Amino acid sequence: MYLVDQSSNDEAYIDLLEKEINADKIKGFDLELFNPDFFKKNASIVIAKLEEYLADSSIKGLALTDPTELITAAKSLMTSAQDEITPFDEKKLTAIIDLYVRTGIQVHSPGYMGRQFSGVVPLAGIFDMVNSILNQPSSFYEAAQLPNAVEDIMANELNQFIGWPQNEFAMVTTSGGSLANLTALLAARNDKYPHFWSKGATSVNQDLRPAIAVSEDAHYSVSRAAGIMGIGENQLVKLPVNTQKQIDITQVVPTIEDAKKRGLDVFCLVASVGTTATGAFDDIDTLGEIAQALNVWLHIDGAHGASLLVSDKLRHKLKGIEKVDSFSWDAHKMMFVPGMCTLLFYKDKYKSYGAFQQNASYVFEQSKDKYTQYDSAEQNFECTKRPLIMNLWVLWAIHGKALFAQKIEHLCHLTQEAYHLLSHELDFTPVHVPESNILCFKYTPFNSDINHIKDFQLQIRNAIKEDGTFFISKVDINQETCLRLVFMNHTIDMHHVRQLLQKIRGIGQQIIHQH
Ligand SMILES: *Cc1c(COP(=O)(O)O)cnc(C)c1O
Repeated sequence: MYLVDQSSNDEAYIDLLEKEINADKIKGFDLELFNPDFFKKNASIVIAKLEEYLADSSIKGLALTDPTELITAAKSLMTSAQDEITPFDEKKLTAIIDLYVRTGIQVHSPGYMGRQFSGVVPLAGIFDMVNSILNQPSSFYEAAQLPNAVEDIMANELNQFIGWPQNEFAMVTTSGGSLANLTALLAARNDKYPHFWSKGATSVNQDLRPAIAVSEDAHYSVSRAAGIMGIGENQLVKLPVNTQKQIDITQVVPTIEDAKKRGLDVFCLVASVGTTATGAFDDIDTLGEIAQALNVWLHIDGAHGASLLVSDKLRHKLKGIEKVDSFSWDAHKMMFVPGMCTLLFYKDKYKSYGAFQQNASYVFEQSKDKYTQYDSAEQNFECTKRPLIMNLWVLWAIHGKALFAQKIEHLCHLTQEAYHLLSHELDFTPVHVPESNILCFKYTPFNSDINHIKDFQLQIRNAIKEDGTFFISKVDINQETCLRLVFMNHTIDMHHVRQLLQKIRGIGQQIIHQH
């Protein structure tokens, strides 16, 4: 609704408008907040705080705060003014940052060993500020020219490690590995059942229901995708894993054939490079051949482990990657950029247009010009999309791939060392041979039958969390709870690992004695 009739001529309209709305309010509007010198002042406060944060190398886990207390603390930092803009208050800004830092998961501390997101390369974090201030939605070339050009550059840079013919493959950036998995599975579904997109599930033969074959150890985003896509979680065909938690290659064909007898039409096989639980790498080289022989789409969830592609020493773990139809890659995990930056690769560029429509390649050829061929809006779910590639690219452009390769190699090496240490300590039992930077184990002292203590490993994990020096996670393997380390921080060394084991011993013995 307009305040005045817009049909009146422009000058009269503006005149009227100025009278109708409160002129004081216009004048009172604090434009200072947008001034560059004000920006500089704000930024220098923030940078000084972050410098302080990064300089702190103490060993810290997580100090979990009572949520009600935290809400009260946060509320105390809010202005109560309603009608006026409260002037900038440096103390308040620093107090907000302090509260954020103090209550946060300490990803830059060597005590942080528990999860797959990491302390970022600081330059990538700083560059994220450039993204935020320039604020370019990157699904369209015309709205974000450099990010879209850079996506093209990075696709080709990273394809050096894959080996697909140039111009035949596609790389799409998307907000997270879960969304990448969903997107790829949609492309696979629409490729097999072209009418599913427009007509829905009724378009497929009900005697042979669409199904997805997936490792027992797959990330939950895959089953979630099956639910979202109308495939139904019940149509997930679980592929058994071997003792190393990799898909048991000998079981793939029999399991899929057996599913067919039960009326399930497996159109896609999902494997992982770097499972969430143990960091296991499936044999994608052999799976590639099997998928081809069965004529099913092979999607690899590489959210965690695809980054190993950039390392000459570790790339062999992804042997056969050129055979897959699609794979996802979280750069916000092992490429150490801020959350989030996910890359979704397709072997066939045209099929990347099939995730969100029917007859995709036809549409592509009909409607693209020199600019719009760089748009990704048809390939990704987001409408407004952050320029996700830029933080990764700026590191790649300035420091080159060695930055990533060396850090990843270091972390994987550290994990091997920790594994050997654990194997030689008589009171610890590793539960797998680590393949990347994830290590799962148990504390198994002799002086007690720990089987009689309910949830012993879980109790240890919770006590470690409570203690606040180290942050580790837990995972269920073969129905038993284990302790889990994820090494994402290169400042962790064996001295820290030994310190953690001592801590676990102390806490474990305490639990035994209390029992
Ligand atoms: C982290 C992870 C995901 C989910 O990715 P998000 O970026 O957190 O959405 C999926 N699969 C695997 C194997 C992962 O490690």
